[in-house]
Formats: sequence, C-alpha cells, structure tokens
Amino acid sequence: MTREQSALPVDSSSLHRGTIAPRVREIPPSGIRAFFDLAAGNNDIISLGVGEPDFATPKQVRAACVRALDRGETMYTPNSGLMELREEIAGYLQKGFGLTYDPRDEILVTVGSSEALDLALRAFIAPGDEILIPSPGYIAYAPIAYLNGGTLATVETMAEQGFKLTAEALRKAITPYSKLLMVNFPNNPTGAVMTYEDWLPVAEVVKENGLIVISDEIYAELTYDSRHVSLASLPGMKERTIVISGFSKAFAMTGWRVGYACGNHELLAAMLKIHQYTAMCAPVLGQIAATESLRSALPDKDRMKACFKDRRTLLVEGLRAAGLSCHMPQGAFYAFASIARTGLSSEEFALKLLKEAGVAVVPGHVFGAGGEGYIRCSYAASTAKLNEALGRLEGFMKVKI
Ligand code: PMP
Repeated sequence: MTREQSALPVDSSSLHRGTIAPRVREIPPSGIRAFFDLAAGNNDIISLGVGEPDFATPKQVRAACVRALDRGETMYTPNSGLMELREEIAGYLQKGFGLTYDPRDEILVTVGSSEALDLALRAFIAPGDEILIPSPGYIAYAPIAYLNGGTLATVETMAEQGFKLTAEALRKAITPYSKLLMVNFPNNPTGAVMTYEDWLPVAEVVKENGLIVISDEIYAELTYDSRHVSLASLPGMKERTIVISGFSKAFAMTGWRVGYACGNHELLAAMLKIHQYTAMCAPVLGQIAATESLRSALPDKDRMKACFKDRRTLLVEGLRAAGLSCHMPQGAFYAFASIARTGLSSEEFALKLLKEAGVAVVPGHVFGAGGEGYIRCSYAASTAKLNEALGRLEGFMKVKI
C-alpha cells in the first residue's frame, strides 16, 4: 500500500465503523462531558457541574513534589506502588476506618481510583457474568462494566429511603448470574451514606448469594454527620470486598491521578497482573505527593471538609428557597434536587437553566433511569459562586417555571 493509499479518506467514520469494537461503539460518550461542552467558552456561565474540589493541592504537598523532581525522582516505581505509600495507606485506613490491609500484597496503587475500578471489573468479569449496579449511580460504572464483557442489572435506591441501598432492593435485583455488586457510599450523585445498621442486612444478602463487592469509597472522608463505615469492616466482608479509594476528592488531588485498591491478596494479584501490563505503575510524582499528603495534610483535609460542610448547608437551603425539594446530603459534595414539580425532564430543565440563567448543573438521567426527575449540583465551588448561582436559580424559577 502506498502512502497516498494509506491516508485516511475525508469520511473516516464509514471506513472505521468496522474497526471500532462493537461494545465501544455502543457505549455513549459521558453525559456530563457532552452537557458541559455546551457551556464551554462562555465565561458568564456558573458551573455547579464538575465533581472536583476548587482548592489547589495543599502547599507542602506540592513543595515535597518539587523537591523530589529536583532530586531527579522521575523513574518507574514498583508495579504495586511505592512501598512507603502503601505503608502510609495501610496506617491511614486502619486509624481512620478500622480496616486492616497488608501493604505487601493487599494494597495496589493505581492511576486514580478510576483505574482501580476498571482493573477490578476486568479481572473478575467472565462472559455471562452479571454486575449489579445501583441507580442512580456514578456514570462510569455501567460503561466500564459493559466494556469488560459484563451484563448489567440495576439495583434501585429510592428518595424515600434517603437513597440508601436496601437488602430488599438488592434481593430483588439478584439473578443466578449475578457475580459482582458495585456500591458507592458516600454516594455520587445522591450524597447518601450507609451506617453500620444499614449495611448489616445488605452484607447478609451479599454473603448468602456469594457476591463479590466493589466498594467505591472515594468520598469516605467527606462524611459530614456520622463516621464513614466501610462495608469491608462488617463481619465476613473483608475477604469478598475490594475497597477502592484515592486522593482526588478529600486531598484535592484530581490531576495527580493516584488511587488505590485494597482487598484479598489473590484478588489483588489478578488486578496487579493487568496493571503491570497496562499502566505499569501510577505516576511517580503523584505517588510522592500522595505519600506526603498522608504524612502532613490531614489538617488541610479537615479544613477543606469543613468548607464543604458549610457550603452544603448554603446550597441545600438555597435550592429549597428557590422551590426545589432536596434532601440533606450526608456525604460527598453533591446536592441531588428534585425538579419533578416543574413538569420538565431533567435534561429539559438543565438545558433551560443553562441557556436562560447561565447556570450549569448535571441532569439526573445521566446517572441512570433512577436519576430522572433530579439535577445534581456540586458544592465543591466557592461560596461566591454558589450565592450567584442560587440567585440566578431563584430568578429562573420565579419567571420561567
Ligand atoms: N468514583 C466516583 C464515585 C467518582 O465520583 C469519581 C470522580 N468523579 C471517581 C470514582 C474517579 O476518581 P479518580 O479517578 O480521580 O480517583
């Protein structure tokens, strides 16, 4: 084939339709991204859309990274991550959440918690396996599970039950093919949390049915009115739960791309096998920064959490004052407000609010069918931004709805 022949024709989509794997073709692009492309480039728009802290990573963490860079620490790390980081993570989880993991073979450092989620699904799904996914739920679960060959089943959580996962809903969703259960508390998008008493009956159903749980606890530290309880800390659950977390949210480190998975060494070894052929290791500077954050940034984490807690009250009270009903989220940094009384779909409401009031929120349907009738507003935004957005929302609700 000559160079000219190999050049792509203008309409490359038809040439490559058959090249793209069917499962990739079938999944939609991220609903959040698609929506925010509409807002891109307009400086007058206030975004309550993104799920990341508006704080920069604490200063001493950045400084530790600069020193490491000056020393030339730019090489690969062990596949499982720097040993000192795994040791810090083990101590942190023990002290903060009563979870005991051996840093030698029960902790794997990954490229954000996103990679850990993908590895777990890749490592455990075989053809025909069914994955139980909560709805509403984090937008990445269904696409990654589907991409990795799984069949999806939905477990519903309801507003009347504070969007908690119940044993009844789980039992209803289980079939003979169910293998994995994804859980995420504190929850994105609802802000729901689970107490020890909430988990007990769920854990029983999990054990009765021999399920493996992938527990995404990325918002564990951002639990405002109670202590975070990991499902892995319940009797008999550690061996069948992969706990996934990271530094993005609580330590304001989204761009460093460091997360981790913890669990039974056999399960982690399977995940490690994929990780060492694909990512090889998480970025070294990110790992150095993560180690420093566990050593010196716990007070910064608490300070940021206190800010989020104040903003939570501001946002939820403002949403209610504007006429939207909204339960008080117990964790993460999202308010999930009902727009049912407006008679609009969540997509229609979010588009209208964006175009007519210049406020960007996420329409609830992108989080699954259970999210229809809601909008997700992030309170990881400054108080000034929240106040301005709430003022605009109030005006919008009075005039337009
Ligand atoms: N899980 C949940 C529930 C999230 O909200 C996010 C980020 N939006 C992630 C995982 C991924 O976070 P990261 O890869 O930055 O650790």
